[in-house]
Amino acid sequence: MTTENNSALVLLSGGQDSATCLAWALDRFDRVETVGFDYGQRHRIELDCRPKIRAGIAALDPAWALRLGEDHTIGLDAIGTISQTALTRDIAIEANTVQPDGTTLPNTFVPGRNLMFLTFAGALAYRRGLKHIVGGMCETDYSGYPDCRDDTIKAMQATLNLGMASRFVIDTPLMWIDKAATWKLAEDLGGAKLIDLIREETLTCYHGDRTHRHDWGYGCGECPACELRLDGYRRYRAGERPR
Ligand code: ZN
Repeated sequence: MTTENNSALVLLSGGQDSATCLAWALDRFDRVETVGFDYGQRHRIELDCRPKIRAGIAALDPAWALRLGEDHTIGLDAIGTISQTALTRDIAIEANTVQPDGTTLPNTFVPGRNLMFLTFAGALAYRRGLKHIVGGMCETDYSGYPDCRDDTIKAMQATLNLGMASRFVIDTPLMWIDKAATWKLAEDLGGAKLIDLIREETLTCYHGDRTHRHDWGYGCGECPACELRLDGYRRYRAGERPR
């Protein structure tokens, strides 16, 4: 297969991290397409944020507008069917739940989610001739989700390339930075306007709360995702250098 070396597919969920990844990709690739996954997530209101994020980011820079290509959405209802998680079921979010193998993870963990996302993204990138796959996975601030780890992503890159006889590159620009540094990265890429866009149009909250407005954006302010976002924003505003 032939791929354009300077082209990318960005996993765009509608949250802060993936919006930052979209700006990161538009800053360095000539052609950028986006993909979103509908897996029956409770906070699917996040998906509704995607068109506004795309339009808003394209409006920040004429060069970015020229580079931004098609958007794709893929239905992955099966994930919600097979996983019992607080993201797909109406149950309370808990920080430590014992998994079938005895380890503990937050019950927002959706087993295999990123593996499936990357597999479908790889299939789509193959068809569209896109070389880079860009995702907001991060080891630093997260809850130990095993499918966000760098080793997992590198293994997926090898697997996709073997299974599709390709030379995909999976880029994870947020892998080693925390939430404060993610805000700073957005500022470096798109200035105060990108920060404002992320505050206004992205949603990270596990409850999909778009009614409570804070200085860091919308959200319930209490779930683990909101706590991470507000803590990162406060430290970014305080001028803390990336750890
Ligand atoms: Zn929340």
